[in-house]
Amino acid sequence: MNLTLEYHRSPVRYLAGRTATGTRLGTRAAGMLAANLSPLRLLNRPDPRPPGPDWGRVRPLLSGICGSDLGLLTGRNSPYLSAVVSMPFTPGHEVVGELLDDLPGLAKGSRVVLDPVLGCAARGVDPPCAGCASGDRQRCDHITAGAVSAGLQTGYCADTGGGWSRMLVAHFSQLHQVPDDLDDPAAVMVEPLACAIHTVRRVEIPENASVLVVGAGTVGLLTVLALRAHTKAGPVYVVARYPHQRERALAAGATEVVSSDRAARALRRATGGFLATPDRGAEYLLGGADVVFECTGGSGLDAALRVARAGGTVVLSGMPNRSADLTPAWFRELHLVGAYATGGRDFPDALALAHAPPLSGYVDAIYPLSRWRDAIGHASAAGRLGTVKVAFAPHRD
Ligand SMILES: [Zn+2]
Repeated sequence: MNLTLEYHRSPVRYLAGRTATGTRLGTRAAGMLAANLSPLRLLNRPDPRPPGPDWGRVRPLLSGICGSDLGLLTGRNSPYLSAVVSMPFTPGHEVVGELLDDLPGLAKGSRVVLDPVLGCAARGVDPPCAGCASGDRQRCDHITAGAVSAGLQTGYCADTGGGWSRMLVAHFSQLHQVPDDLDDPAAVMVEPLACAIHTVRRVEIPENASVLVVGAGTVGLLTVLALRAHTKAGPVYVVARYPHQRERALAAGATEVVSSDRAARALRRATGGFLATPDRGAEYLLGGADVVFECTGGSGLDAALRVARAGGTVVLSGMPNRSADLTPAWFRELHLVGAYATGGRDFPDALALAHAPPLSGYVDAIYPLSRWRDAIGHASAAGRLGTVKVAFAPHRD
């Protein structure tokens, strides 16, 4: 049997979560857990079965809690995605685990990280869609078809299991071998790191371009690391809320770290430009950064749009679950670019970059599945508690 945290959505809970706006995520998550309204249940289920010959069983060693998972649990994620998941599912898509079966190119017993996207190859859809055929399986059109139920990724699919359990199944094309000298806490950062590398590759970043990263949680910090490793960006400014985020951002290669209310003024000083003050709403820049990465999961989008230079680019990293005033996108002729999951080269490059010293200590809170309420509460307040990444160790009691 498989001890698993299973997600069940009831429409009432979903609507309650969506309409309770104005509450901070951490507070709401804690409140929902205390009131026993959480859509998660800890259950014993039969082990998931490989749906095809090139699938194998994986025993998760560590499985991270992602901002998108917290959005899911608190009902903040857009209903848009409900069409591409299947219920009930086990969350958890940031996984390092042990492979329990022999697969093409991977021996039983290998330590592996999971590329969670469930594209045409995993689904046995042939011929593949245009996205998968060109190596961009994150753009797969067939995520509701083929050998397994609907699910954009492992962690949103009823048939594959997920990382927040003691067993999942994965297609060999989703798995990458972990080198022996990369420990489990570093390896569980590989998936979010691959996403960050993909994000900085979504846009052309000219040499010495000025860059702003809004947010210094996992996504923001890894974006800074990816910018330094894979682009020739010039100054990288980071908006951070907590002192430990400031230190980690500087260690990852940030030029300067500012608070959100000082971002426009700091950028004006650094990049030139004029500060404009509207009757209502935040001040903005005429001038500003060449490229802005929104890494807060939505709350920073409005600010990001206000400090990109005319003709500049704003990249949506992470799931944008709040609306923003799009007037600057129109008035400043901005490029708005989405960045979802990872493309072909990103996992090998992330496995190489995962050795980077600034990453050490990012996973500093590890919980057994039985303490899932504490784990979710901790992850919801991670920034305030001085933590970057909270993870489950599903086989610990
Ligand atoms: Zn596809």
